[in-house]
Amino acid sequence: MKIKFLGVGSGLSTGLGNTSFVVNDKVLVDCGFTVPEALKKYDLLDKIEAVIITHIHSDHVGGLEMLGFYNYFVRKERIELTAPPKLLKPLWKNCLKGGMRHIQNQHGAPLKATLSTYFDAATSRGHALGKSVVQEYLVFRFNTTPHVPEKESYCLSIEDSSRTRQAKNGHLVYYSSDTSSVNVEEIKDHALTFHDCQLFHTGKGDVHTSYKRLLKEVPDELKNRVWLVHYGDADQAAALKKDCPFAGFVKPGQEFNI
Ligand SMILES: [Zn+2]
Repeated sequence: MKIKFLGVGSGLSTGLGNTSFVVNDKVLVDCGFTVPEALKKYDLLDKIEAVIITHIHSDHVGGLEMLGFYNYFVRKERIELTAPPKLLKPLWKNCLKGGMRHIQNQHGAPLKATLSTYFDAATSRGHALGKSVVQEYLVFRFNTTPHVPEKESYCLSIEDSSRTRQAKNGHLVYYSSDTSSVNVEEIKDHALTFHDCQLFHTGKGDVHTSYKRLLKEVPDELKNRVWLVHYGDADQAAALKKDCPFAGFVKPGQEFNI
C-alpha cells in the first residue's frame, strides 16, 4: 500500500497544506481547501476514485465543492464519497448545498442538484463497526474520536483484508485525524500511526493533541511507529525534530510504502 501526503498542516497553517493523503493513487482521505491544487500538482486529480471524510471542518472538506464540480463537469463521472452516516446530511446541508445546489443541464434548463448528483455517497454501516471496502484488499474502518465538544469526528483504520501484508492482524495504518486524545490501543494495534499534533499546549481543553501530551501518553516503545501530522508551525516542528522520539514530522508530499 502506498500513502502520499498532500499536506500536513493544521487548519490555520499556511504553507504546509491541509492534512490529507492519497492511498494507492486512488483513495483520497480528507479533502480540505488546499487539496484540489495539491492533487493537480502531484498529477492525481484525474486518478481519484473515492474520497473519505473524517469530520466537517473546512481543512478536511473545503475542497469537496471543487472536486465535485471537476468530476461532474470535466471528468463526467461520480467518485465514491464515504463518510459515517451522521456526517453526510450536514455535509450537504450545511456545507456544500450553498454552492452546489443550482446548476443547469445540457439544454440550459435549471437543475436542482443533490449530493448524489456529484458523488456516489456510500455510508459506512454504523460507527465503530462501519466498514467500507473501497479497494480489493483494503478496508477503511471509522471510529469516533473526541475533537470539538459535541462535534461528530472520526479516526480511521486502514486494514488489509487479505492479511498478507506487514502487520500480522492486517491493521496497517491508524490515522487519528483531528483528536484531543491519545488512543494507545489503536497505536499498538497498527503497524503505523499518523497522529494529530498541536505544537503548543494550553492544558485547558485543547481540541487537538499537543506534542507535550503525545510525549507523555504514547508509551516509549510505541513512539517510533507514530508519525506526526496536522502541525502548525514548520519552524517550531523543525526545532523539535532534533530530540523527537517519534518517527518524525511528515513533510508535504512525503510517501510511505507499507
Ligand atoms: Zn477539525
